Amino acid sequence: MEKVLIKNLGYVISGDLEKRWGKCSEVAIESGKVAFVGSAGSCDASEFDFVVDAMGSTLAPGLIDSHVHIVFGDWTPRQNTIGWIESYLHGGITSMMSASEVHLPNRPKDAAGVKALALTAHRCYSCRSAGDQKIHAGSVILEPGLVAEDFAELRSQGVWLAKMGFGSFSENRDAAPLVKSAKDEGFVVMSHTGGVSIPGSRAITADDLLSLGVDVAGHVNGGTTALPEADLEKLICESNEMYFQISQAGNLRSALKVLEFAEREGKLNQVLMSSDTPTGTGVMPLGTLKSVVELCALGKLDPDHTWAMATGLNAKMLRQNTGEIAVGKEADLLIIDAPSGSAFEDAISAMKGGDLPGISGVLIDGLWRVGRSRNTPLARNLALIEKGG
Ligand SMILES: [Zn+2]
Repeated sequence: MEKVLIKNLGYVISGDLEKRWGKCSEVAIESGKVAFVGSAGSCDASEFDFVVDAMGSTLAPGLIDSHVHIVFGDWTPRQNTIGWIESYLHGGITSMMSASEVHLPNRPKDAAGVKALALTAHRCYSCRSAGDQKIHAGSVILEPGLVAEDFAELRSQGVWLAKMGFGSFSENRDAAPLVKSAKDEGFVVMSHTGGVSIPGSRAITADDLLSLGVDVAGHVNGGTTALPEADLEKLICESNEMYFQISQAGNLRSALKVLEFAEREGKLNQVLMSSDTPTGTGVMPLGTLKSVVELCALGKLDPDHTWAMATGLNAKMLRQNTGEIAVGKEADLLIIDAPSGSAFEDAISAMKGGDLPGISGVLIDGLWRVGRSRNTPLARNLALIEKGG
């Protein structure tokens, strides 16, 4: 695999809550992984196959959307749109996690059917090559009738995601034994949170989530209807391990409350970002980016920290070796800058000011995938391929 150098950077966002790279200038990639992060002149460009001049832009880990409604192929039945996954690549999404294939028209509801659906979706998205978007799909919808052996069988077939919130349980907490069985088999279990989303489903309260013991409170700020504020506070105070996932499609006021409560409780390392699209809210290629920027501009956290919630922390939840710019991590990267005509000089100050940055480069596994994004605003400075490509 080729050696890649990104030089003339103005700033590097680590994607790690604990680490700041700040004003680093050069990042080198070897065999699809980050090999070096450092200052100008550290690397000899003649030794690289592919060299990008970032023209002073910022380098950031590729965004991970931890709540997307994948079904099959690059099609969403909810908005009857094709090509949305590719469009999300232009929104900086280099990895995504299915929140179950619940939008499949007339989806099965029996145990055999939900297992088959999860396995099929998993298989359909697992044949990726280096440089493709990383799509974690095949999330088994918890339904009455599933038993512990079903999770062992699915796990042996590679399925490792499960979703609570759409099954026909008379009480939500009746699903607790299934959540436990799934977790015992190594599944990551996400739950719906808040008011009813699709017809036939039910609201899920803070008490439900606490008794279910899921890994991720999906769209904790509502999908689209938020929990009452006191319930949200209770959930955050009482959960020491659960991830609290903020979604663009949810309630913005509630998202800001999540940050406030999580900061007060010392639990910011449990907060994730996502879009929860495509849904009734629409197809939103910039959904996750928009959440990061809105929470930078309106919350108290800085862009490095907020970006980590959409990258490094999502990767940690998904147990993937990406989401951070650090030696040995998969080189899923974005080159971003303040948008052209913005009141701000660079991506960091633009995000603080509430402007979406422009993307002028997307790399996955160190492979150049997209140059100037067709979806973000035009970046003030555009990265230039100096060699290779
Ligand atoms: Zn959802």
